[in-house]
Amino acid sequence: MKNNYWAKTIRTFTSVLPVSKSRAGGCARCGKCCSLPNKCFFLGVQKDGNAYCTIHSIRPLNCRKYPRTGKELLTKDTCGFRFN
Ligand code: SF4
Repeated sequence: MKNNYWAKTIRTFTSVLPVSKSRAGGCARCGKCCSLPNKCFFLGVQKDGNAYCTIHSIRPLNCRKYPRTGKELLTKDTCGFRFN
């Protein structure tokens, strides 16, 4: 868990950088990245199980760009994004 806090700190500082051009796919709305390392206060879940952000239009850059790089992708099991 300690590593997840460190990873989030790094994501926050590097979120001003561009998203990798090798990123493909799209958000599958699993909500896993909204729980790194703790469940976000603004995370909502619809009746169909899809996650949503209650502040989506003003969400921070590190949420907006996740996963920005392949190294950043900590939710490979459920994330709809991939890196070629
Ligand atoms: S982990 Fe990937 S698929 Fe899941 S909510 Fe985050 S960006 Fe979307």
